[in-house]
This record gives sequence, C-alpha cells and structure tokens, in this order.
Amino acid sequence: MKNIAVIGAGTMGNGIAHTFAQSGFKVQLIDISEASLKKGIETISKNLDRMVAKEKISEADKEATLNNITTFSDITAGVEYASLVVEAATENVDLKLNIFRQLDKACPDDTILATNTSSISITQIASVTSRPDMVIGMHFMNPVPIMKLVEIIRGYNTSDEVTNTIMELSKTLGKIPTEVNDYPGFVANRILMPMINESIETLYNGVAGVEEIDTVMKLGMAHPMGPLQLADFIGLDVCLSILNVMYDGFKNPKYAPCPLLVNMVRAGKLGVKSGEGFYDYSESRKAEKVANQFTK
Ligand code: NAD
Repeated sequence: MKNIAVIGAGTMGNGIAHTFAQSGFKVQLIDISEASLKKGIETISKNLDRMVAKEKISEADKEATLNNITTFSDITAGVEYASLVVEAATENVDLKLNIFRQLDKACPDDTILATNTSSISITQIASVTSRPDMVIGMHFMNPVPIMKLVEIIRGYNTSDEVTNTIMELSKTLGKIPTEVNDYPGFVANRILMPMINESIETLYNGVAGVEEIDTVMKLGMAHPMGPLQLADFIGLDVCLSILNVMYDGFKNPKYAPCPLLVNMVRAGKLGVKSGEGFYDYSESRKAEKVANQFTK
C-alpha cells in the first residue's frame, strides 16, 4: 500500500492523515470544507512542531511528513489511486452511506474501504457498496498520533484477507489493533459512552460540579483525564451521535443521552473544537466551568 485517502480533516481525520504520512505513506486528505482542510493541516503542523521540540522527530521528518499530504475538496478527485480509504467524516449514518456510495464508484475495484466510525454499523455501511467483503471498521483513538489502540471491526461480510491486511497495516503504523464484532458502539464506546453520559447526568442532577466530578474520576479511579474533559476532547456532538446510535440500536433506555448533553449541542457548545464545552478553551485556554449555567 502506498496511497491512502482520508475523508474528513476534522479532529480524527487530521490525526489519521498525520499518522499515515509520518509512516511514509502518501496521503490524500479530503474534506468538503476548505476551512477544515486549512485547520487540519495547521493542526498537523503544530503537532509535528511539538514532536520536534520534544526531540521525538527531526525537522526533516516534519517536512517529509507534511510533504506526504495533499489536500482535496472533492472525493472523486482524491481517491483514484488509493489502496485504502479511511473515512473520518461527521458521525451521521446518512452522510456516511452517501460517502460510501460515492467511494464505491470512484475507487479502483481493489481499494479497501475503511471507516473510523465510533458506533455506526459497518455491515450497514458495507451494504451500500458493491464490495461488502472489502469494507471494515478502523477505529482510531483520539489523539491519533499518540494513542496505540485501533479497534478493528469486522462487518458481517468482511473477508479474512481484508481483516488481516488491516491488522498488519495498523502494526506498521506502530499501533496495536484489536479485533471486535459489529454491534452498536463496538467495545470502546459501548463502555465509555455510558460512563460519560452518567457523568453528565451527575452534573445535571446537581450532585457535584464539573471539576469535582472530573477530580473524583481522576484521583479516585486513576483516569488520566476526567470524563467531562474527555467528552470535550471527543466533541459533545460526537458523544451525542454515538449515544443515539446505541439507543436506537439496542432499544435500551440506559443509552438515552442526558438532556444536558442534548442542550449543550443545540447551543453549539461542542467542546474543544468550538472553544467551549464543559470547560472554556477560548484564548486563555483556562479551564473554566461553563456548563453549570445549563444545570437545573
Ligand atoms: P469532526 O466534526 O471534528 O470532523 C468531521 C469532518 O468531516 C469535518 O471537517 C467536516 O467538514 C467533514 N465532512 C463532513 N461531511 C463530509 C463529506 N461529505 N466529505 C468529506 N468531509 C466531510 O469529527 P471527528 O471527531 O473527527 O469525527 C470523525 C469520525 O471519527 C466520526 O465518525 C467519529 O465518530 C469518529 N471518531 C471520533 C473520535 C473523537 O474523539 N472525536 C474518536 C474516534 C472516532
């Protein structure tokens, strides 16, 4: 494999592009938004600067990584030579089905189509293509250049050959792939999201404030980051979408998103990417509580 197309240059897409490019792959980074592409490249550049400062890579490695990435604003233009596409666009079923219909037409017959979806059925996504055996979940963790895990999700029809190829490829990126089956939320988010949702519910019920909840989980459970801060990093819109997919998929009220989460997303408080979530990430980047104003 030489050419990898990445669809979406947001939180995950730019990290996935960075990781492949740093491992020597040619990356076509595609997003419908020019602003996202610009911000994505800026983020990659800043993250590489940080690695240079920590002497993890050289200035030449940084330049080589950036030179491996080309940006496109049109799916059909960017994927014609891709051996693998990793889709990391917004977590929305209809949007992803539409992208996979386009990819199936635009990509060569032997291109593997992977999705970084957090929760949406791989089998459903594969069903709109003419190559369901070549569609797979490749679920990277945030921040991609740092986190070791890749959750590899086999759809109902994903072939052994494609699964093995993607497992091996993940290892060449320095990651640790772990194979799981295709049920809503897979493993990572089936366990993580109820914890995040319960933390938001705890805040909503007035049991404790943002910092107190995060402190209990950091110091009491040895979590490196509190669940509310983690939700800000993931994106509150992404958390809401994942909970809705699990709520719909299992028909179980335990996955119903907390009304506070719903309200914050409606208000545009999406976490780090919008500058504000449970904490304030604006200019000063001081972690100030903002969510209390929404609580009962
Ligand atoms: P994001 O909102 O940061 O970025 C999504 C990007 O997709 C945006 O730049 C948007 O312009 C682009 N996009 C939308 N429609 C498109 C289209 N038709 N073609 C090309 N680009 C399009 O979202 P994100 O957090 O990066 O999430 C992307 C995917 O990764 C989702 O499926 C999400 O569930 C998954 N994921 C997210 C995290 C996380 O921590 N945020 C972790 C693992 C997986």
